[in-house]
Amino acid sequence: MQDSPFDLRDLAPSERSDEDGTLTRRPPVYVTQPVLPPLEDFLPSLREIWESKVLTNGGPFHDRLEAALCEYLGVEHISLFTNCTIGLVTALQALRVSGEVITTPYSFTATAHSLLWNRIKPVFVDIDPHTLNLDPARIEAAITPATTAIMPVHCYGHPCDVAAIEKIARSHGLKVIYDAAHAFGVQLHGSSLLKHGDLSVLSFHATKVFNTFEGGAIVSPDAQTKNYIDQLKNFGFVDDVTVVTPGINGKMSEFNAALGLLQLGGVDQAIARRREIDKRYRQGLRATRGIHCVGDAGERVANHAYFPILVRPEYPLSRDQLYKLLHAHDIHTRRYFYPLVSSFEMYRDLPSSDPEGLPVAHRAAEQVICLPIYPALSNEDVDRIIAILQEAGAP
Ligand SMILES: *Cc1c(COP(=O)(O)O)cnc(C)c1O
Repeated sequence: MQDSPFDLRDLAPSERSDEDGTLTRRPPVYVTQPVLPPLEDFLPSLREIWESKVLTNGGPFHDRLEAALCEYLGVEHISLFTNCTIGLVTALQALRVSGEVITTPYSFTATAHSLLWNRIKPVFVDIDPHTLNLDPARIEAAITPATTAIMPVHCYGHPCDVAAIEKIARSHGLKVIYDAAHAFGVQLHGSSLLKHGDLSVLSFHATKVFNTFEGGAIVSPDAQTKNYIDQLKNFGFVDDVTVVTPGINGKMSEFNAALGLLQLGGVDQAIARRREIDKRYRQGLRATRGIHCVGDAGERVANHAYFPILVRPEYPLSRDQLYKLLHAHDIHTRRYFYPLVSSFEMYRDLPSSDPEGLPVAHRAAEQVICLPIYPALSNEDVDRIIAILQEAGAP
């Protein structure tokens, strides 16, 4: 590199000079990149769909994927959906939730939107500073006679304090619906995290740990609930002439289900690679003052869906300065979850959106950056990202 005809300092950070002096542009690095099987592996499934002409409405791939997911995730009842958001909307309908629901402002906006789509008033409660999940110690103070449920999020796939939440829900007669969009495959005390609460809703969106292009699922505790959810996702039909409820179209197509079956074969390997990257970041950033890797506090993190760091005041750059510096190196991180959901126009006038009541969530939203993590990310790129953070953080 020293003998290169180009002075490296003159290069845009995204360019590099190879041994022979040719200038190549590094491909940009994004926060995530979807996992896909080889196209050839998908073609036989496509052929099968073409020949059968069964495209959707609970076809063979759909039913096989439901069974395979139950087995993989260690749960008994799954209803596949077109996406997680319709799953959340339907879960609230299935449990006839109304009035007010306690939830977290530190999430993707679909969590709270699913409440508004049901004419339910979201009540935002602050988060725990270590897990960044809904803080159970603050839930009871937010319960009113109108409260009917709690909708927590296993943020970044890190488990909520499910025992504390269940205790509160039981003593106040509230339902619990987990937004488990990040929690695919996460285990707690040796069993699936998805068994907690009345329902859990997964996302199989392209950006998630397990994807079916678009997709989602509701995990139910019993066959009767699953059956009702299956009616709700199919317009409320129970047979070809009977409609029992104003359901929606939330069905997963055969294309998505066929992809899911293939993806399931590679998901352990994908999570194992994510784990390696997670470990590499944690080791590389351990000594960088002011950079806190979320999850260092020892909570169990099993799927490595994200790699969130908090840029604290001891770091020489602000969060946004670091975000821009990485961007200048063509490394495109995301500030999940900034802005807070409670700051969006349709929520900010709610009494519970007052920043005074949400200090921990506001601080996290001001400090967080999610670093790139996905199976195809190279160690070289991980090391380059670590080096940028270390150098900018050097006193
Ligand atoms: C991705 C995501 C959703 C929405 O999932 P879709 O499948 O895209 O509808 C909901 N909640 C959270 C926390 C998410 O990250």
